[in-house]
Order: sequence, then structure tokens, then C-alpha cells
Amino acid sequence: IGALRWHFLLQSLEDLQKNLSQLGSCLLVIQGEYEALLRDHIQKWNITQVTLDAEMEPFYKEMEANIRRLGEELGFEVLSLVGHSLYDTKRILELNSGTPPLTYKRFLHILSLLGDPEVPVRNLTAEDFQRCRPPDPGLAECYRVPLPVDLKIPLESISPWRGGETEGLQRLEQHLTDQGWVASFTKPRTIPNSLLPSTTGLSPYFSMGCLSVRTFFYRLSNIYAQAKHHSLPPVSLQGQLLWREFFYTVASATPNFTKMAGNPICLQISWYEDAERLHKWKTAQTGFPWIDAIMTQLRQEGWIHHLARHAVACFLTRGDLWISWEEGMKVFEELLLDADYSINAGNWMWLSASAFFHQYTRIFCPVRFGKRTDPEGQYIRKYLPILKNFSSKYIYEPWTASEEEQKQAGCIIGQDYPFPMVNHKEASDHNLQLMKQVREEQHR
Ligand code: FAD
Repeated sequence: IGALRWHFLLQSLEDLQKNLSQLGSCLLVIQGEYEALLRDHIQKWNITQVTLDAEMEPFYKEMEANIRRLGEELGFEVLSLVGHSLYDTKRILELNSGTPPLTYKRFLHILSLLGDPEVPVRNLTAEDFQRCRPPDPGLAECYRVPLPVDLKIPLESISPWRGGETEGLQRLEQHLTDQGWVASFTKPRTIPNSLLPSTTGLSPYFSMGCLSVRTFFYRLSNIYAQAKHHSLPPVSLQGQLLWREFFYTVASATPNFTKMAGNPICLQISWYEDAERLHKWKTAQTGFPWIDAIMTQLRQEGWIHHLARHAVACFLTRGDLWISWEEGMKVFEELLLDADYSINAGNWMWLSASAFFHQYTRIFCPVRFGKRTDPEGQYIRKYLPILKNFSSKYIYEPWTASEEEQKQAGCIIGQDYPFPMVNHKEASDHNLQLMKQVREEQHR
């Protein structure tokens, strides 16, 4: 994981430690390879029960199997609980058996059979927390939350997003006070280039386990119950949570979900391998201000709006560069605060029209897309200050400004900021033909 997410994780642990100590308990952070650590500490601390979050990622599935084996060997109990998702994806898959592939519509139908998600965890009492106090107070110092310098994480890469449950709950409360906004939330109408997030911005908190998706789900249900009208899935806020659930469910049933090869739901495409072009995209040097501003926000802050993710993902893959979605997914994995195995891969397949999404003739224009919601280009001026003196007429395509206008703006294209790396019209027309061909061949 990248430096931004490391900081976010350490801040989240710090916050957890603070909140637990206020309740008379404390957090011990142990670093190292889990199997060796468990072997060591189970006996040392006389541990009788190990609990973990049931996860669908292959890495965690393997970890759970190893811990269970160790439990049998060393005699401790293992409890694996569904907490990161709303539902137990196994239950959903059982109900879908015999009717693959799972579409979002069918998925919603199955959920309607299951009813609202369970809330299996009871609220803990003050006594519970006090019972979870280490016998030796000195341990808390030995096993404190590490500092970024302990882990050699660069200090300059800190996102404005602060990790932790306290921040996450504040953000949740802020959004839920505006009940009208919650009830009428319609995802496609939110703005990708507003200077503050136009959606909830809760994803880093869900992703890191700072906030429970069930808390959010039930708070939304309460607001919907009081509203005369409210939006519905797929565009409502609860619908967004269900997209998350959808990708978890499909990922848990699909081998090689984060790869093209060996992935049965993914279109097989001969993408170009072009390290130089990939690097330009990753480092915000495509020459398209809208794309480069988004990639800069991603690198500096670790969060970008869903439609901004659409813009850069389409540009890298089927839109302009014809580079594999796997490459884009890896860059997101490194830079996003909310990086998530299932959701990231699922959305990259979607955007590259490799799975789930079939309207591949709709390609986003890297000039017009951003203009619709931010004609003055305030977002570009914020993230690419080198372009800030261009007038609104040129801010999305500064290469069309005359030499004189470029001089006046203090930015010469080709010298201070790159020319566009492709001719969008030609590249996207060509890619569209390629995509058509691939789909026809594979359909046959
Ligand atoms: P809101 O609109 O406020 O939605 C509330 C919650 O619903 C989010 O916090 C998130 O948990 C969930 N959600 C919203 N949209 C989606 C979606 N399309 N798919 C699944 N869950 C969703 N999201 C991640 O959490 N991790 C990722 O690694 C990730 N990678 C993405 C890659 C690409 C190419 C694209 C197009 C989207 C990706 N998303 C990812 C989905 C989505 O963009 C983010 O979840 C969303 O923008 C987070 O902002 P928010 O919390 O304000 O969302």
C-alpha cells in the first residue's frame, strides 16, 4: 500500500487506541508475520479465542484457513464474523445457484428475499471493555501504535483526509443532518470536480474498518422511513452500498477476479504494453488538464470522485491509450485511501467494458466531460496551478491558445506543460473499432 494509506491506517489505529483507553481498555499492536506471532503470543498470553473478519480476498481466505489449522494445533477457538460487508456473500451465492451470471438486478432480487442485513454484534458494555485490559500496564508501551518514522513512511505524503472512527463518524453525522440531501441523492447527478466532495467521502472509513457499513445502512433506512419520497438503488445512497456488496459477492465467486487471464467473466483483450504512456498517465503528464488534475488529486489526497475515476479509467483503457485495466487498477491500489480488492477490480473491469458494462460506444471526452460541471475550470486551477492563468476558454485545452496567450498565462505548452499525448478523436475512433472487433469475435 502507498504512503497515504499507511498514514491513514496509523491515524486510525491511534484513534482506536485513544477511544479504547477512554473506556478503560487498550489496544496492543503487534507487528510481524501472523503465523509466527500467533504461535508466540498464544502461549505467552494464554489466549483462548481469536476473532477475525470474514473476508473474500484470497489472501485473507488463506490466512483464515491457516489460523484455523493453528487453532486446532494449539487449542484456541477461532471466530470468523461477517462485519466488513452487509451480508454473508455465501448466502447470496447459494440463493443464486444455477443462475449465473449475477446481474445487479438479480442481486437486488436476492437481497429482497434475504431482508435487511443482520446486526449480529451486540453493543459492548463498559464492563466488557474493562475486562479487556492487559494484566500488565507496561505492555501498552511495548505494543504501542507505531509511528510513521518507525515504518520509514515518508512524512511529506500526508493526505488532508484524517483516518479514524472519530473523523468517520463526524463525516457521517454531517451528511445525515441534511435529510433532504440524503433522501434525494442521485449518484449520476453528483459533481466530479467540486472542490469539496459532492458525495459522502465515507469510502476510506469503510475500507479501513473505521466505520460500519451497517451503521450507515440503518441510519439511511431511518431517514428514508421519514421521507415522503426517496431515491432508490442503483442511484440512491443505499444503492451505493449495495454496489459495494455486489462487487464483493461477484468477486468471492470468481477465480482470478483481479486479472484478465483466467478470469471467466472478463473479456480477453490484447491491450498495448506501453510503459512510457502508462507513466505519463500515472504522473499526470497526459497533456489533458482534466485528466492530469484528477491524477494529481489522487496522488496528493488519495480520494477522487466516482465520475473522475470514470474519466481517468476510460482514458487509460478503451478510450484513448488502450492499456490494460490491470495496470490502472494497480496504480489505484497504490494511491487510493479506499483501495479495495473487489471494488477496485470490479469497477476497472466495468470502465474498460471488460465485464458488467456493455455500452462500450460511450467514450468520455477528456475535454468536454469536466467542462459540463465546472466550465470555469476551478478544479483544474486548484490541482494544476501552472495552468491557473489561462482563461476559461482555454483551461481544458490550453494547446489551442495562441503563443501570445500562452506567454500571458505564464505557461508555454510543450515546455511548461505537455502537449496532449494523443489526438483524442483519432485514438478513440480507432479503439472503438478494436473493441467492436473483440466483442464480435468473442461473442461468436
Ligand atoms: P458515495 O457515493 O457516498 O457512496 C457511499 C459508499 O458506497 C462508498 O463509500 C462506497 O463504499 C460505496 N460505493 C459507492 N460507489 C460504489 C461503486 N461504484 N462500487 C462499489 N461501492 C461503491 N471504491 C472503493 O471503495 N475502493 C476502490 O478501490 C474503488 N476503486 C474504483 C475504481 C474505479 C475505476 C471506479 C470507477 C470506482 C472505484 N470505486 C472504488 C467506487 C467508487 O468510486 C467509490 O466507492 C466512491 O467514489 C467513494 O466515494 P464516496 O464514499 O463519496 O461514495
